[in-house]
Amino acid sequence: MKILIIGGVAAGTKVAAKLKRENRDYDVTILTKSKDISYAGCGLPYYVGNVIEQREQLIVNTPASFSALTGATVLTETEVININRDQKSVEAKNLTTNEISTYSYDKLVIASGASPIKPPIEGVNLDGVYYMRTPEDAIGLREAVEAGKI
Ligand SMILES: Cc1cc2nc3c(=O)[nH]c(=O)nc-3n(C[C@H](O)[C@H](O)[C@H](O)COP(=O)(O)OP(=O)(O)OC[C@H]3O[C@@H](n4cnc5c(N)ncnc54)[C@H](O)[C@@H]3O)c2cc1C
Repeated sequence: MKILIIGGVAAGTKVAAKLKRENRDYDVTILTKSKDISYAGCGLPYYVGNVIEQREQLIVNTPASFSALTGATVLTETEVININRDQKSVEAKNLTTNEISTYSYDKLVIASGASPIKPPIEGVNLDGVYYMRTPEDAIGLREAVEAGKI
């Protein structure tokens, strides 16, 4: 059984870990466009406020530690750009090399989460307007605070 999972934060990693616990023989691969997997969204405000000091403390598992723990394969910075349901395959772009590869599946799990909306408020695209969804966002916000920009 070959299972592909799109997205590797809370839902994607949970599905992968559970599947491998159920059956070690399942071939489970996570494709995720972010650099990090399994990070603690709820920890981001604490990182900005310096209660959580180190970036590494936000990341519950790195791709390598998650793979070692569960046996699932993790491909980060890999964006799924097309799903071909008839052929049971997806096309994904390696965001580092721009190379496009095809991955086949028996079962597909879509755990691609959400992204923040930008409300149509005047000035919303100006410097100094921040979003907080990913570790990179929190790191950028804390850097701005520490640099006295906010
Ligand atoms: C500041 C903040 C504080 C929070 N605090 C709490 C809290 O206290 N308690 C709580 O329960 N929850 C909290 N949350 C919410 C929690 O973090 C989210 O509910 C959780 O991250 C959702 O997980 P998910 O796996 O469904 O989606 P996501 O976290 O959105 O992950 C989806 C992943 O899929 C990837 N992806 C999307 N499209 C593609 C594609 N085409 N190809 C490949 N990859 C793709 C994305 O890049 C992302 O990495 C908080 C969130 C934030 C931002």
